[in-house]
Amino acid sequence: MDYTVIARRFRPQAFGEVVGQEMVAQALRNAIAAGRVAHAYLFTGARGVGKTSMARILAKSLNCPNARNGDPCNQCDVCQSISAGHDVDVLEIDGASNRGIDDIRSLRSNVNVKSMRSRYKIYIIDEVHMLTKDAFNALLKTLEEPPPNVKFVFCTTEAQKLPDTILSRCQRFDFSTIEMAAIIERLRQIAEAEGVKVEPAALELVARRAAGSMRDSQSLFDQLLAFGGDSIAATDVLRLLGIASDDRLADLTDALVKRRRDKALELFDAALNSGAQLGEFVDQLLAYFRDLMVLAAGAKEIGLMSVSEEQRGVLSQQATAWGLQTCLAALQILAEAKARMKGISYGRALAELALVRISMLDDLENLSEMIQQLRSGKLPALFTVQAAARGESASSVSRVEGAVSGPAKAPHPDPLPTEYRGEREASAAAAPSLSGPDESQKKSDSEGSDRVIAAESVSVPAPTFPLEPGFEMDILAQVISNLSDMTKSHAKNITHLAISGPNHVVFTIPRSYHLSKQYLERPDQLGRLEKLVTRIVGRSVRVVLAVDESINAPSEAIPSAPKAGQSVEGGMRRLDLEHDPFVQKVIAVFGAKVIP
Ligand SMILES: [Zn+2]
Repeated sequence: MDYTVIARRFRPQAFGEVVGQEMVAQALRNAIAAGRVAHAYLFTGARGVGKTSMARILAKSLNCPNARNGDPCNQCDVCQSISAGHDVDVLEIDGASNRGIDDIRSLRSNVNVKSMRSRYKIYIIDEVHMLTKDAFNALLKTLEEPPPNVKFVFCTTEAQKLPDTILSRCQRFDFSTIEMAAIIERLRQIAEAEGVKVEPAALELVARRAAGSMRDSQSLFDQLLAFGGDSIAATDVLRLLGIASDDRLADLTDALVKRRRDKALELFDAALNSGAQLGEFVDQLLAYFRDLMVLAAGAKEIGLMSVSEEQRGVLSQQATAWGLQTCLAALQILAEAKARMKGISYGRALAELALVRISMLDDLENLSEMIQQLRSGKLPALFTVQAAARGESASSVSRVEGAVSGPAKAPHPDPLPTEYRGEREASAAAAPSLSGPDESQKKSDSEGSDRVIAAESVSVPAPTFPLEPGFEMDILAQVISNLSDMTKSHAKNITHLAISGPNHVVFTIPRSYHLSKQYLERPDQLGRLEKLVTRIVGRSVRVVLAVDESINAPSEAIPSAPKAGQSVEGGMRRLDLEHDPFVQKVIAVFGAKVIP
C-alpha cells in the first residue's frame, strides 16, 4: 500500500481521529468496552475513507494493555508496533498482492498457534475481494471454526464480490465517503501543523478533487507542499492538477449557451494555454454539464461536482437558459467525444468539434414543445410527418427522412459520422416522438384491427379542409385514406362528394356498387364516416349516401381514387411540407430532407 508522507504522519491513531466515520468508531468502541467483540469484521467503503486505519485502531484497542474505554494508549510497545505495521500478533495480508491460496493456507496452519505476547491474534486482510476462490474456501474453513482469541478484519471496496458464506460470518460496517467540509477541515489542520499558509480556495480544490477520499486528498496535499513552498494559492493547485478555474468553466459554458462558438473556442484555447490539460479540462466540463443537468432537472439539493458552491447561481441561470433537453444533448455529445479521445493524437480537434456542435444545438426545449403539440393534434397540418413517424401509409404520404431515424443504428466505423450520430441520438432522445417507428408500430400491431379505428377517433389529426366548393375531392381523399379494412374497400367505390348544405355532404356511389352503398349506410359505418368528415372540415357534418347515376364504375372516372401506392393526400403536397416551420426545424436539427 502506497502511503504518502502526510497520510502516514497524520494517520488517525484513535477512534475519535477517524474523520467522517464517527458512527463506525462509536459502535466499535462500545463493543470493546462491553466485551462484545465479534470474531470477524467486514469494513467496506470507497478507497481512502479510513478502513485500514480503523482496522489498526481496532487491533490496538483489543491488544493494548493500557486501553481505556475502548481507546488504545498509543504509547506502549504493542500500540507502536501495530501503528508501524509490524506487530507479531497483528498480521496484515494484502489480498491484492497475495492472491495465491498459499498465504491463506499458512494462515490456516498458523491460526491455531497462540498469540505471542498479546491477548488476540488479529488478521487484517486488505482488498479481501481480490482473493481467489480457493483462498476464500480455505478462509471459510477457518471462519467456520474460529479458534478462541483470533479476530479477523476484512477490508474491501467491493463487498458485493464476496461470497455469501463469508459475508454471513462477518459483522459488517459500511464506511461513508467523507464530506468535503470534513476533508477541508482536516487539510487545514495539517497545513497549520506543517506551518504552511494555504488559501481556503486551494483547500477546497484539493478536497473536491479527492471526491470523498481522505487518502487521495492528503496525497495531493503532499505534492502541493513539495511544489508550493510556504504559502499555497488556488492557482498553484490548478497548475499542479492541470485543471482550469471555476470562472473559465463558467465563461466557456456561457459562450456555448449564447451560441457564440467563436468565443467558446477562444476560451478553450486560453484554458489550454494557461496550463489546463486537455483530458482534465474535458473531464471538468463533463462534470460541469452534469451539474447543469442536475439543476435543469430540478434537483436543487444535490451538491455540485464541478465548481464551488459559490457558483451555484451562475449554473442555475445557465441551466435555465439551456433547458433540460439541451443539457442532456450537450452532456451526451461531450461524453461521446471524451470516450473517443483515448489514445489518439487529434483529441483536441475532437473536443473542439464537440464544443462547436454543442454551440449549434438548437433550442431543443422549444422543439420538444412543438412535438407535444404535434402529438396532441394542435398542429394538424403536420399530419404527414407524424404519419411517417408512425410508419403508417408510408407509400401514400410524403415522408420526412431523418426525422424517423431511430437511435438503434449500428455503430459507424468512421469516427466523424459517429459524431453526427451522437448528436442525432441525443436529439432523438430529447425528442421522443421522433425516436422512430418501432415503438408506435409495435403498439399498432398489438392493437390489431382496432388500430385504425382508434386512429380515426383519437390520434390522427387529419388535415383540415374547409367544407367549401373546390375541396370536395381533397376531403374525399382524406376520408378514404383514414379508413381501413372493409370500410375502406367499400369507400373506395365512392366516386363523388357533394356539398348539399352548410353541414351536409352527399357521397355518391355507382349503381353497380350498390352493395358498398348498403354496407356504408349501416349506422355504425355512417357514424364512422360522419366522425371523419367532421374532423376533417372542423365542424359537425351529416353524411348521406346516394347513387351516382352518371357512371357505372369508378375506375376510369375518379382522378383521386386511391390505388395501391398512389397518393391520396391531395392537400399535403411536398412543397407545403418544406415550407412548414416545424418541418424546417426537423430538417435543421436532424439534417433531414423531404422525399416524395
Ligand atoms: Zn497501548
